[in-house]
Parts: sequence; C-alpha cells; structure tokens
Amino acid sequence: MKTIIKIFVCNPFMVNNYVLRNEKNEALLIDAGYSNNEEWSILHNYIIQEKLDIKACLITHPHIDHIWGINEFYNKYAKDIMMSPEGYQLYQNINDLADQLGMDKIDILDKSKIKFISEGEIKIGDFCIIVLETPGHSDGSLCFYLPEDNIIFSGDLLFYESVGRTDFITGDWNKLVDSVKNKLYKLPDDTKIYPGHGDPTTIGHEKKNNPFVSEL
Ligand SMILES: [Zn+2]
Repeated sequence: MKTIIKIFVCNPFMVNNYVLRNEKNEALLIDAGYSNNEEWSILHNYIIQEKLDIKACLITHPHIDHIWGINEFYNKYAKDIMMSPEGYQLYQNINDLADQLGMDKIDILDKSKIKFISEGEIKIGDFCIIVLETPGHSDGSLCFYLPEDNIIFSGDLLFYESVGRTDFITGDWNKLVDSVKNKLYKLPDDTKIYPGHGDPTTIGHEKKNNPFVSEL
C-alpha cells in the first residue's frame, strides 16, 4: 500500500499537520493544529477536491499547537479523534498552558468523543499503523509508524537534527532519550521521519547526526 502524504503547516507555532491517503481515497489526519478559518478552508478544499473519505484524526500529543482545531474537526467530520489516555489527562488541563501563553481558552471535548489508543497495531480502513508510546516531550506522546510505507510520524519527540523540548509539564529528558533510543532508533535506518515541526529526516540520518541523541 502506497500512502500519499500532504503537509499543512498551521498556526503561529508552524505545526506540520499531515493528511495521509491511500489508493481507496481513505484519509487520516495526523494532528489538528488548524487555528483559523483560512487554515480550515485550505484543508477542507483539499478534502473535497480530492474526494477524500476522512476516517480519523490521530493526535501525537495534545499540546495546544497540535490540537487547536480538534473541536472543528469533530464538528465538521464527526469522526474518531484518537489519542492516548495519558494524553487526554494533559488535554483536560490544556487551558492552564493556554493561560500561561496568553492564549484564548479552548473548549475541551468530552471523553466520550475520544477513542483511546495505546502501544500496538491498529487498523483504520486499509491503513495499518503501529502506535508507539514515546513519552519525554510530554507524557502520553505517541509516534505513528506505517510499516508498509516505512514512515513514522514523530510528533515533537524527534526533529531533523533536534529533539522536542522537555520543560513543559510532564516533559522528562531521560524518558525522551529512552523513547528515541529504544523505540525510534530500533526502526530501519531508511525509515522516513515526518516530525511535528520542520523538515523530514530519516532514522539513519538522526542516529549519525542528531546532536542530542546519537547512536555512535
Ligand atoms: Zn508539543
């Protein structure tokens, strides 16, 4: 199965939001940082134009820049929003962070509208995804690995020659290093990484060149 990936960079934090589609035009969203009408209409027009059948929205971690638009997503498409149970704990308190950052509060979606996922394989339509629990940037952070395409969506755990910050609540440097070394660096070197911010990279490139977590 060949997955086609489209990147939408949104909101002042420049989050990479990904739309994945397969040969049947089934589609998944990874993260929902759409913060205003313009960003929403660009996404929505793409969905209409390409006749995509949205199946779900998977959340790497519920920091505000990655979940800004999940209410709109739910209202527009009424499809599953998937995150970890630990992520939901963090999401429930997200307005504390919004306060700190001087941002408007957001409405928190009720638990009943969330589908909880944890480490292991999930099938959504024809997509086969291996969910990896990768705490460090925050508790409940997930990475999504598609073995058939050999690609991984790393959220804010691992970036091109960098890593996510660990100074937000539940951030933990030792957990981050452990997640990178024992989960991501176990994947094949040619696995392509699509991070939550910035350019794509590969596992092999990061093992050699990442100044924070190298595997030399
Ligand atoms: Zn984050």
